[in-house]
Amino acid sequence: MTQPSDKALVPFVSVDHMMQLIHHIGIEPMLRGLADYIEADFKRWELFDKTPRVASHSAEGVIELMPTSDGEVYGFKYVNGHPKNTAEGLQTVTAFGLLADVASGYPVLLTEMTILTAMRTAATSAMVARHLAPKGADTMAMIGNGAQSEFQTLAMKAICGLKSVRLYDIDSAATEKCAANLAGHGLDVVPCTSPEDAIEGAQILTTCTADKQYATILTDNMVGAGVHINAIGGDCPGKTELAPAILNRADIFVEFPPQTRVEGEIQQLDPDHPVTELWKVISGTAQGRTSERQITLFDSVGFAIEDFSALRYVRDQLPETGLYHPLDLLADPDDPRDLFGMLSRAAE
Ligand code: NAD
Repeated sequence: MTQPSDKALVPFVSVDHMMQLIHHIGIEPMLRGLADYIEADFKRWELFDKTPRVASHSAEGVIELMPTSDGEVYGFKYVNGHPKNTAEGLQTVTAFGLLADVASGYPVLLTEMTILTAMRTAATSAMVARHLAPKGADTMAMIGNGAQSEFQTLAMKAICGLKSVRLYDIDSAATEKCAANLAGHGLDVVPCTSPEDAIEGAQILTTCTADKQYATILTDNMVGAGVHINAIGGDCPGKTELAPAILNRADIFVEFPPQTRVEGEIQQLDPDHPVTELWKVISGTAQGRTSERQITLFDSVGFAIEDFSALRYVRDQLPETGLYHPLDLLADPDDPRDLFGMLSRAAE
C-alpha cells in the first residue's frame, strides 16, 4: 500500500499534546504569548473575512462553527455550549479547530480546542482588561468558578498584574475546586459566600457562569463607579448575566457587533445602542477608558479571530516542540486524478 506523502499528513494536536505544550511553555508565558497573537490580529482586523458564527440552537445548548481567514490562512472552530452537561459528567464547552492554507486549501493543523478555548478566552479577557481596567487594578471578583475560572484568573495575573482573586459560585464545591487549583500560583485567593462579598474591593468583576436564561449575576447596585466588568458567560440568545441597568451606565466594548448584538449582554438593549469595537481601541482609533469613574464593560461572546490567533500560535510552536501526531487525513493518490485507482489498489 502507498504511504501518504508529508504534504498530506496533517499535524494533529491531541488533548495530551496540548497539555504537554502548555506545561512545556508554562501556563502564564503561554497566556501572554496568546494575548500577543490575539492583539496582533486585532490590529489587522480589517483584512479578515468576518461573519457571525453559524449557530445551531437546541433546548439544551448550542453547536457553533466559527470561521475566518486573513487571505493566506483559513481557520475554523467547532464549539458547543451545553450548561446542563456538567450534571452528567460532561463539559459545558468542548471544541476542536483547524487551520488551512488558502493557496491550496490543504489543512495544516487540526487540534483539540477545549483547553485552547479556555486559554484564548482568558488571554482575550486580560488583553482587553489591559486596555480598559482602571490603573493599578489588582483585585478581581471571579463569579462562576467552573472550567474557565482558573484560566481567567491566571491570565489577569500574567497580563494585568492581578494580586488577589475573590471567588464565588452558587455551588461551593466549584469554589473549593477553583481555590485549590489556584493555590501555589502566587495569588491571594479568597473564597466568598455571596456575590456581594466577592465584589468587595474588586476593580475587575468577571462573570463566567453557565445558565441558559436571562440571569442576573450582577445587579445594578453591585456595580460601583470606576470598575471594569469582564462578562464572559452571556454568549447566546436568551443567555445573559447582567441587569440591563448596568448596561445603561457602562461604556460597552465588543468584538464583532453583528454577532454580539445577537449573543451578548447587549441583546437586552436597543439594536442601535452605542458600542465601541475593541479592535479600534487596540489599534488606537477609538478611546478606551477615559476617566477614573467610568464603568467599562467587555461584553465577551468569543469571536473567530481569537481562535484563529490561538491556532496560529499553536502551529508556530510545532516545529520546535514536535508535540503532535502526523494524521493521515487527506487522500494522496500518486496521480491526483486517479483517486479511484488508489482505492482499487488498496484492496490488492
Ligand atoms: P462551567 O459549567 O464549567 O462553569 C459554570 C459555573 O457557573 C458553574 O460552576 C456553576 O455552578 C456556576 N453558576 C451558574 N449559575 C450561577 C450563578 N447564578 N451564580 C454563580 N455561579 C453560577 O462552564 P465554563 O466552561 O466555565 O463556562 C462558563 C461560561 O462561559 C459559559 O456560559 C460558557 O458558555 C461561557 N464561555 C464564554 C466564552 C467567551 O468567549 N465569551 C468562552 C468560553 C465559555
